Amino acid sequence: MSNDNKLIILGSTGSIGKSTLEVIKQNKDIYEVICLTADSNTIALAEQINLFKPKYAYLNNHELIYDLKSRLSHNQTIVLTDISQLHDILKSDLYSTLVSAMSGSTGLLLTFFALQSSKKVLLANKESLVMAGDLFCKYRKHIIPIDSEHNAIFQVIGNLDSQEIDKITLTASGGPFREYPRSKFDLITVEMALKHPNWSMGRKITIDSATMMNKCLEIIEAYYLFNLQPDQIDVLVHPESIIHSIVNYKDGSSLCQFSEPNMQIPISFALGYPNRINSGVSYLDLSAVGNLNFSKVDHDKFPSINYAYKALAGSAMSCLIINAANELAVNAFLEKQISFLSIFSIIEDSFSISLNSACSSIDEILDADIVCRQKIKQIINKYLIN
Ligand code: NDP
Ligand code: MG
Repeated sequence: MSNDNKLIILGSTGSIGKSTLEVIKQNKDIYEVICLTADSNTIALAEQINLFKPKYAYLNNHELIYDLKSRLSHNQTIVLTDISQLHDILKSDLYSTLVSAMSGSTGLLLTFFALQSSKKVLLANKESLVMAGDLFCKYRKHIIPIDSEHNAIFQVIGNLDSQEIDKITLTASGGPFREYPRSKFDLITVEMALKHPNWSMGRKITIDSATMMNKCLEIIEAYYLFNLQPDQIDVLVHPESIIHSIVNYKDGSSLCQFSEPNMQIPISFALGYPNRINSGVSYLDLSAVGNLNFSKVDHDKFPSINYAYKALAGSAMSCLIINAANELAVNAFLEKQISFLSIFSIIEDSFSISLNSACSSIDEILDADIVCRQKIKQIINKYLIN
């Protein structure tokens, strides 16, 4: 096998990572897994190593390395114990394609190394693009989005210039609180927010869907991926999550991609591109789907959508700042340290942060992120529940 279909999966034990391996199982003869990585889920990582027999595996939580090794029946996999070894592999010619599926900002540097080494990057980790949009834009032609909305747009327009596009419309399920009264948002618990109506996803993105901050991050993601102006990006609530986004053309035509809400579909498209491969999911029978619904976003209920436009109109650092504010606020909410409503307040307060640093290199971006997180922690302290 040439290096063309050799894969590294960052975050293989997560929701996107597992869906990616499901697609690879359907296409065993085409793809070879070179390296799998996880944070601390040794049970899932060991099962994956035993099944896919990668050359390398990386576990972020070093204290669990022996636990991982004790679970391995396939002992030829080299378990990396140092992040710099993973960096070297990402910069090497051992692979052709990175599936970037870690959650949050931890994926930034690793994804950047793959882009810098001219690898094909299948991007689920939207936070890294939001943090380093201008830098990642230089490598736009290497990125194929996995995020279902952006993947839908990519399926329609391909790697083309967006000159003829008038607008794109990102669809949004509206999350679990679409019909929940705003007056009761102060009663929302972690358990309620973790129940997404359509998608089964990791904890961070599930909370982002409940606040609709996920759509805020996706507007910024679309801005960078498709080289559009902010006012060319719109959001439409579509509770069934069947139409994954719409491209509106100057001539009055609108094209969309639709399918079952199952991430194996965008993942298989990204893996196979420009060909189509088996995703393990069949296409929809529209007569069984019946009605589809659409409505405008309630901005009073979900101010998050407007944060995207405010950040894009602000300084180059604004997107990095709201990403960090959201990530830290979501962690604090999941730890039951702050209320659901405080997530919005913390992000709003974070707009007052000014960072006097440049952000043209990856080191500058990582440094700015550290500084801004210190400032955000001070903001969060104001909202702690006793
Ligand atoms: P999950 O929380 O399910 O998975 C995250 C993965 O990253 C796990 O494998 C986790 O390991 C690993 N990980 C977390 N922190 C570290 C770390 N410090 N070092 C190494 N590995 C780490 O997230 P999702 O799969 O839901 O989401 C992944 C990304 O994809 C996010 O950016 C999300 O926004 C995006 N996305 C997800 C969608 C979905 O349907 N899930 C849809 C569109 C985008 P461990 O299991 O050991 O904790
Ligand atoms: Mg999405």
